[in-house]
Amino acid sequence: MSERRIKLSQAPQHELETQPRPLQDALRWLSPYEDELSGVVEIFVTQRAYLFCQDHADSDLHHEVGGVLVGQVHRAEDGRTYIVVEDAIQAQHTDYGPTHLTFTQDSLVQLNNELEDGYPGKRMVGWYHTHPRMDVFLSSYDTWLHTSLFGKPWQVALVIEPFAGRGGFFCYQSGGQLDPHYYAGFYEMADVSFESVVSWENLEPDENEQGAME
Ligand SMILES: [Zn+2]
Repeated sequence: MSERRIKLSQAPQHELETQPRPLQDALRWLSPYEDELSGVVEIFVTQRAYLFCQDHADSDLHHEVGGVLVGQVHRAEDGRTYIVVEDAIQAQHTDYGPTHLTFTQDSLVQLNNELEDGYPGKRMVGWYHTHPRMDVFLSSYDTWLHTSLFGKPWQVALVIEPFAGRGGFFCYQSGGQLDPHYYAGFYEMADVSFESVVSWENLEPDENEQGAME
């Protein structure tokens, strides 16, 4: 393996650019916990990224698999931060058992190199991993990993349960804490199809905020 970088260090810090939320052609998916949450970031996900993560999740139903979420961070006109998950990169060289996934030093190097080489100008906006035959939550190890490697306030953790077809995003709350059980939904962006591609049965479309998608 290359010895270029071993940390998930980011591009140099710069002010977040103010841009309107990409609400056109977006469909909001709500988790059962939205009222309990005060997340510091809103989450937009392209269908391409969603399908990439879902396909990866479906590819191994016996072990946890995962990777990183790649995209943009912006500030909306009202000052709130939002991320756009545009792509994802599968982690190689992970250590895994049936109940946990670890990014090894080699996988951190691989993910960082692929980000720099393949997605110039984009940032790691979080990570994803699967919990086959478990629920959608963060284990104490997951929480440790998230706060250690993905400590920016706008970095999120996506957990997918491929058997039951469930998923949700965990993000830092306004007090800086991370709730390991309450997950958030997201906005699905219609970059592939005007028909929704979201298959998680634990999320409901927001009836009050219908965009162009059916
Ligand atoms: Zn986990």
